Parts: sequence; structure tokens; C-alpha cells
Amino acid sequence: MLIAVKTPAELDSSPIRRLVVAGGGTAGWMAAAALSKVLRGKVAITLVESEEIGTVGVGEATIPMIQLFNKVLELDEDEFIRETQGTFKLGIEFVDWGRLGERYMHGFGRFGQDLWTVPFEQYWLKMRAAGRAADIEEYSITRMASKANRFMRPALDIPNSPLADIAYAFHFDAGLYARYLRRHAEARGVQRIEGKIADVTLRGSNGHIDALVLEDGRRIEGDLFIDCSGFRGLLIEQVLKTGYEDWTHWLPCDRAVAVPCATALPLIPYTRSTARTAGWQWRIPLQHRTGNGHVFCSRFISEDEATAMLLANLDGEAMAEPRTLRFSTGMRKLGWNRNVVSIGLASGFMEPLESTSIHLIQTAIARLIAFFPSRGFSAVDIAEYNRQTRFEFERIRDFLILHYHQTAREDTPFWRHCRTMEIPQTLRAKMELFASHGRVVRIDNELFSEVAWTQVMLGQGLMPRGHHPLAEVIDDTETHAYLEGVREVIRRCVEVMPDQGRFIEQHCKAPPLAKAPGAMAR
Ligand code: FAD
Repeated sequence: MLIAVKTPAELDSSPIRRLVVAGGGTAGWMAAAALSKVLRGKVAITLVESEEIGTVGVGEATIPMIQLFNKVLELDEDEFIRETQGTFKLGIEFVDWGRLGERYMHGFGRFGQDLWTVPFEQYWLKMRAAGRAADIEEYSITRMASKANRFMRPALDIPNSPLADIAYAFHFDAGLYARYLRRHAEARGVQRIEGKIADVTLRGSNGHIDALVLEDGRRIEGDLFIDCSGFRGLLIEQVLKTGYEDWTHWLPCDRAVAVPCATALPLIPYTRSTARTAGWQWRIPLQHRTGNGHVFCSRFISEDEATAMLLANLDGEAMAEPRTLRFSTGMRKLGWNRNVVSIGLASGFMEPLESTSIHLIQTAIARLIAFFPSRGFSAVDIAEYNRQTRFEFERIRDFLILHYHQTAREDTPFWRHCRTMEIPQTLRAKMELFASHGRVVRIDNELFSEVAWTQVMLGQGLMPRGHHPLAEVIDDTETHAYLEGVREVIRRCVEVMPDQGRFIEQHCKAPPLAKAPGAMAR
């Protein structure tokens, strides 16, 4: 029989009394807002941030799971949209990725309606091979609504209709979101301290962080520290030297230049990602402005060229000077080290191609709650937290690499590099499985669903050689009628949906802002 031996320190089961959040960007305020709600004043929470250092502030597109976060905080969704100048998001349109001149969408939610034992996509593959299926987008309510600029929340009172299946997320101004969450967190007792962290003191006994020391000499002591200090990883890296696993050989883009421009109407309910010669450009429509950025690989294009390309491809007048950010894709070797949990950019970064960073903040917070420590800091709990974090990062990493690697583009050295680069074995296996019979296996609780993988693989030009043999159990005439029925129902549903602009006007129109704060401040 194996008996787990605990160190004397681990036997300390007294509760955490003081929690310190280092950093007040999106990660810091999301953590402070959620933890103050969950901990109900039993743990004193202090957040330290420096206005002089500022925030990254460019995280503006999300995925549907953020609704869960807002629900836990009991945020009113219309108020949240108004406060953050937000809009709705039904998916991401990818332009020029698989091949120049082609576009496809990764829409949220599922395709069609389930028919029998195999997924909808299998009947589509079968009928496509027979030349009797329309483009796959015609069987997705979110993709068709996006094309028509329409939006409404799911009509849960009609459970068998595609209108009940509308999965959505948001675009919002990250600076305003942090400010909004700050109000909620402070109302629940979070103490905010303005100041620059200049040093830390460590406990001699176990190397845990004891206190943050600010430039003016103030000491902020804590039992548990959350490092939300951004790329610099002030505690997790600069103090604890945890190490960083670099993924730039798989995700080679290492810079982004961002600039907001005047809002272009109509407001589209999706993010647009357009592939460029050595990277890609995002376009995120908000109520008060459009967020734009060019993510690029500095080995293949200069900063000046990337900036010029971005400015030449805006839909409206630029509203600020372009700002460049540098990063290395990858993850911290341990998300949680000693008494420091890193959340947000301090824990790692994968480019915003599928809007996953804010989601990773959310799941890190959820995981921290699941493994919330006592002052003994159990090593096995921390190890499990780190295992789950790694699993989540790696599966998202593979999904992002797919977009670059599965392409027919050969027009620039960057795309030739992406096409031919080595990819992780886990991704290769997924692509080979799909290429055979269109199957996707979702491992454990990995983020992206079978439908998400299917859309990107098809959209990037990976067409399976065959389909699931059991799709043949239903004959072609019946399958065709079924597909046509789904398509027609979706077409009619989209017709009754309101235009997104009108929906916002009726439910959550934001007041004009005197000056766009936060997001681009530095
Ligand atoms: P930061 O915003 O950098 O905040 C760090 C905080 O730490 C600040 O408050 C700072 O003042 C404080 N701090 C640092 N050092 C000190 C110190 N010494 N003393 C005191 N305080 C200090 N995510 C998405 O989900 N969707 C997107 O569309 C998206 N787009 C992105 C585009 C780009 C180009 C980049 C780079 C990121 C994008 N992200 C996106 C990621 C997203 O921006 C971040 O995940 C999110 O903003 C969280 O940042 P953060 O709070 O970890 O760090």
C-alpha cells in the first residue's frame, strides 16, 4: 500500500487569509471580481496595479464560455454590453487562409439537427461526395446569421428550432471591461492599491513569496499571490524563475501592431481575420470604434511594412497612433509555482487567432477555485492544476497551428514555411484521423469541439477521403431530403432574426464616450 507522505509545511491546513493580485489588466480584475464573489469576504483580497505601466488592453474578442463567467458574477448582460461598448459575436471569418481568394467561417454552435447515430457532418460529407449538398455553412444558423448581419439571443422557448441553438460571445473594449469588473470587485471588498511593485521578500523556510514591496516602501503581505502582471511575469518568472516553454517554432508570429479606427457600418456580428503575406489582420467591430491589428512574424516582414499594411487596410479613419507589441508564443513551465498562481499573459500567450486568451484567464480562475489551497499548499493539488493547465494550452496550440499549416498558400516565404514546418504529433494524428473518414475525437474536456475542428479543417482545405460507413444506413434520397429540410429551416429562421444594429439599439445601445479610454492607453 502506498502512503502519501506530507511535508510538515503541507500539514498546515489553516485557511488562506490574505490573497494578493499583482496586476490590474483584464486578468487581474477578472480574478479579483470572481474570487471576491466566491470567497465572500472570508479572504482579504488586495490588488496592486500601476497606471504608469498600464495594460496590454487589446483583448477584445471572446468565445461563448464567457457567458458562464458573467453569470457567475451575476452581471446583467445588457448592462455589460453598454458598459463595454460591446457587440455580439457569432464566430470568426477567415479570409485568404486556405487559399488566396477563399473565405470560410468558424461559427459557434453546431450544424443542423442530429439525425441518427453519426454526426450531421457525416451525412453532409456523404451527400457532398454525391454532388448533392450545398456549402456546409448553409446548415449552420450562426454562419448564415453572420452573413446576413443578424443577431438575437437563443429562443429557448422553441427547443427544436435552430433559433434555440444560437451560440454567441462578445466583442468589447478591454479597458472598459476591466473598469467595469473593478467596480464589481471593489463593491465586494477588494482593496486596490496604486503603485509600482519594485521588489518582493521571500520566506526563508520554503522560498514562498512573503510580501510585495512597492517603490514607495509599502509592503503588501500575502499567503497566496496571483501573478497577473502581464508578459513580464513579475512573480512567476522574474522572482521564481519558473521557465517558459517557447512555441515560436510552431506559432512563429511574434509581434502585433494595433490601431483603432472609426466604426464602419453595418456592425457585423463576427470577428474577421484576414491572412496577409507574413501573418494576419484582425477586425473587431465595437459600438464606438473598430479594433484592428496585424499579427506578424518579424523574420519575414519588418515592423514598418506590417504597420503600413495595417493602415492601408482599415475600414475607417485611424483614431490613434499604431502601437506595436512583442511576444513569444508559449507557456510558463508551471502555471502554479510555490504560492504563486500565474493568470493571463503572465502564464503564457498564444496569438489571438481564436480569441482564447480571455478564456484561458477564465478557466485558470475556475481551476484555482477547484484547487483552492490551504496554507499548506499541497504538492499533489498543485501538480494536478499544472497538468490541467498544460493540457488546455497544448490542445489550443494545436488548433491554432492547424490554421497556419493546413494551407495551399505558397505565394510568400512565410506561407511556404508554415506549410512545410514540423507540427506536433498530437495535431498530426488529429488531421490524419479527419482526412480518413471525417472523424474528430474530442479528448477529455479540450476546448474546441468536433464541430469547431471540422469547420477549420474543411475551411482550410482538408477534405476527408471518405465518410462514416454508418451514414450509408440512410439512403441518399432520405439523406438529401433531410439536408434540404435543415437548410430551409435555417434559411427561414435567419429571415426572422433582427439585424444586429437594430438588436443593439433596442436592448443595449451604449452611450457615446467622450474619449475612448483604457484599451489603447499606455
Ligand atoms: P496586462 O494587460 O499586461 O496587465 C498587466 C497588469 O500588471 C497591469 O495592470 C500593469 O499595470 C500591472 N503591472 C505590471 N508590472 C507591474 C509592477 N511592477 N507594479 C505594479 N503593477 C504592475 N485575448 C482575447 O481573449 N481576445 C483577443 O481578441 C485578444 N487579442 C489580443 C491581441 C494581442 C496583440 C495581444 C498581445 C493579446 C490579445 N489578447 C486577446 C490577450 C489579452 O489581451 C490578454 O489576455 C488580457 O488582456 C490579459 O492581460 P493581462 O491582464 O494578463 O496583462
